[in-house]
Amino acid sequence: MMVIRMNEVYVTGHKNPDTDAICSAIAYADFKRRIGEENVVAVRCGDINPETRYVLDKFSLPEPEFLSDATDRRLILVDHNEFDQSVKNIEKAQILEILDHHKINFRYPEPIYFLSKPLGSTSTIIAERYFEKKIDLERDIAGALLSAILSDTVVFRSKTTTERDREVAEKLARIADIGNMEEFGIELKKAKSSLKGLTASEIILSDFKDFNFNRNRVGIGQIEIVDSEEIERRRRELINGLEELRREKGYKLVVLMVTNIMERSSELLAVGDISKIEKAFGKSVKENSVYLNVMSRKKEVVPPLERVF
Ligand code: MG
Ligand code: MG
Ligand code: MG
Repeated sequence: MMVIRMNEVYVTGHKNPDTDAICSAIAYADFKRRIGEENVVAVRCGDINPETRYVLDKFSLPEPEFLSDATDRRLILVDHNEFDQSVKNIEKAQILEILDHHKINFRYPEPIYFLSKPLGSTSTIIAERYFEKKIDLERDIAGALLSAILSDTVVFRSKTTTERDREVAEKLARIADIGNMEEFGIELKKAKSSLKGLTASEIILSDFKDFNFNRNRVGIGQIEIVDSEEIERRRRELINGLEELRREKGYKLVVLMVTNIMERSSELLAVGDISKIEKAFGKSVKENSVYLNVMSRKKEVVPPLERVF
């Protein structure tokens, strides 16, 4: 059980946390403490995925505590700003700050600190905060931030990657003692990409986001693979899992992006109103599947889909 401390400020990433959600929370809480705000604590609102586990182990960082309910808590949100993607009862919390790199879908009745940059990861933004304040980064925090940049940019392959992400990553790699970022990045992705021992539902929900497109509930998950062998065997099972989820939660459309890092493309598995996918990408969906030359959910899948809704 988590010990609730009323004067504490919690930094949290989104539900179904990815490496950026966890590492940016850990690092931003560290940054706040380093500038003298001692009551800031990193938390998570979901389970740690295998890639993030690899990062925390590698840099000997503790797993943030689980925050199950945000009621009456004081929060800083990192790596998301949409309430649909946040901790339970977020609307009953006081939000103090947001640091993010996603599209903005946020309203709040009070002025807050909202730092949004169109960069490859929230961790890039947080590393910049250390550099601006001339605070020396510890090796473990630098390693966590670097890992999150490599994770979110899919080792600099995603369209979301900017020059700034590369510059910041290089600086962090020197501090974290990572000689070869490409090698380290692929290592990370391999830690995440094994589907062995996971149920279809666990695979689908491992990096899953809810969207509200013109009052239509749409869910888009993403997994990254380094080869397609396992997917070939489990495609039908995953489509059935998507269908089950759609019926259970009443989604208009549920999509799983299966992104092949080596081939730099994605297969979209989709159930529900697949005509929206066909309209958005101008390709026909056959047996719930379509191949696209895209890697980024945020930049290449969400905007065209939202438009057709
Ligand atoms: Mg994220
Ligand atoms: Mg991110
Ligand atoms: Mg991501």
